[in-house]
Amino acid sequence: MKVICIGRNYAEHAKELNNPLPAEPVFFMKPDTAVLKDNAPFWHPDFSSDIHFEMELVIRISKAGKHISEEFASRYFDAITGGIDFTARDLQQKCKEKGLPWEIAKAFDHSAVIGAFQPISNFPDLSNISFSLDVNNERRQSGLSADMIFSFNRIVAYVSQFITLKTGDLIFTGTPAGVGKVNPGDSLKGKLEDSEVFQFDVK
Ligand code: MN
Repeated sequence: MKVICIGRNYAEHAKELNNPLPAEPVFFMKPDTAVLKDNAPFWHPDFSSDIHFEMELVIRISKAGKHISEEFASRYFDAITGGIDFTARDLQQKCKEKGLPWEIAKAFDHSAVIGAFQPISNFPDLSNISFSLDVNNERRQSGLSADMIFSFNRIVAYVSQFITLKTGDLIFTGTPAGVGKVNPGDSLKGKLEDSEVFQFDVK
């Protein structure tokens, strides 16, 4: 199983990090050891002093495919949830400055938090799914899939040109504006529409 993450998929977030808007999806990957689920606590690593939350919609691939056309892409994922793409922003900034890959900032253990998946059929309009993140019961991020620069179908089609997608693979689809630092003691709660999909603590 692999985790694919789309970067800069919401204009307001690209702006807050001073990144240009991409003409094509930008993606990177996390290994399966990055996955943290079932509301397990996140242990703040000591190699970074600036771990950021990025709340994202996450889709789950349900059928293997490559060179998937955008027209048929919706047949290749069957479930959705909310997740956190934890990012060591201080390390990422150093990588960016040197033009180096981002793995140490993005792919570390437990950097890919996933909530409880819901069938995609629960969401009749995939282009209008709302989601949110509360930190210590305060709303920090709100998103709407309509604001994604690249749709789920476009992402699946694009990524599958380069990498074969397999059943169980996860795709994080980018974060809206409002990313911020987490600290030990914080409690994070993610919602899809009105239903809670995860709630976990930072330790
Ligand atoms: Mn992200």
